[in-house]
Amino acid sequence: MGEIDIDTLRKVFPGAEGEIVAIDDLDITIEDGEFLVLVGPSGCGKSTTLRCIAGLETPSSGTISLDGVDITDRQPKNRNMAMVFQSYALYPHMTARENMSFGLKMTTDLSKGEIDTRVSEAAEMMGIERLLDQKPGEMSGGQQQRVALGRAIVRDPEVFLMDEPLSNLDAKLRTTMRTELQSLQSEFGVTTVYVTHDQTEAMTMGDRIAVLNDGELQQIGTPLECYHEPANQFVAGFIGSPSMNFFETSLSRTGAGARLDHEVFDYLLDQEGTDAVADVSDSVTLGIRPEDIELADGDEPNAFSADVTVTEPLGDVTFVYFEIGGQQVTASIDGDILLSEGSTLDIVFPQNRIHLFDGRTGGALK
Ligand code: ATP
Repeated sequence: MGEIDIDTLRKVFPGAEGEIVAIDDLDITIEDGEFLVLVGPSGCGKSTTLRCIAGLETPSSGTISLDGVDITDRQPKNRNMAMVFQSYALYPHMTARENMSFGLKMTTDLSKGEIDTRVSEAAEMMGIERLLDQKPGEMSGGQQQRVALGRAIVRDPEVFLMDEPLSNLDAKLRTTMRTELQSLQSEFGVTTVYVTHDQTEAMTMGDRIAVLNDGELQQIGTPLECYHEPANQFVAGFIGSPSMNFFETSLSRTGAGARLDHEVFDYLLDQEGTDAVADVSDSVTLGIRPEDIELADGDEPNAFSADVTVTEPLGDVTFVYFEIGGQQVTASIDGDILLSEGSTLDIVFPQNRIHLFDGRTGGALK
């Protein structure tokens, strides 16, 4: 078992210019065996949340429970959680084998034979058998991180806590380790809380992701829920790469339906869009993902022309940057279509692909 219940968790740090609210009344339940990714920009409170779960930080208020038992005041060593850090945090003077067995020697009464067996099994799992007698200084970053993960595994914890464990690795190794970590986690079924600021890691690794901003939970859901149905403009802009494009518009109502007026284009909403903005009085932000922008085919409603400033052919797709009302807008277009910089194209935002946000609150309308 390993269900974690975070209830109205708050953490305030003293700062030179007043208090810093690192976590603001956070409520999250992480299910037993779940892989939850905490994601958000730098300073949003991800690490502080993880450190509170680990017991390395004392909450200002609120509680953390493990399997229904309040562990808010329990010592880190008595929580049965293993943490993996970005910096590996291996003891430099110890071999991989010693690093992996040290915690077990100190905190359990397992015999030497039992510890050796656990270390060998974890080393096999992580593919580091040949490194067991080497010290961290003789290993690459990727090898050190495997040892750090092996050290977490030997403890057979109820919960894995990982704070950006892959961010010191090069891009290729990150991708390999990402998939390895995922299969390891699903094989073990150990509840895992994983902190990253990398939305690709969040999208690909988590059963669910919790998006934080300024210490507040913005949305918790499966990666695809957060991608397709973002709760607000912040989540819409944070999840997805390249990011969603946003246009500030003013709303007017016509006999034919609601219309969004932008300095470059007017967008007549269909019935679904009109219903979505029913309770908004004036400003609406229209959002469209780069992959959803289409080249207009003839005289389509809502199409307008835009100037291509830069093209980036990537093979399967081309990123096309448009200049629309002084704003750079990114589109991702089929790589077989040839486009030249400086040309003017007719583009359209399909009705069933647009997102609408309340211009005042940022809350999602559609
Ligand atoms: P990053 O991705 O940069 O690590 P984060 O999302 O993990 O950021 P936290 O490290 O949790 O963010 O920090 C949240 C806020 O709390 C920040 O404003 C940070 O400056 C502040 N903070 C964190 N630890 C302390 C501390 N020990 N003392 C004072 N302020 C702190």
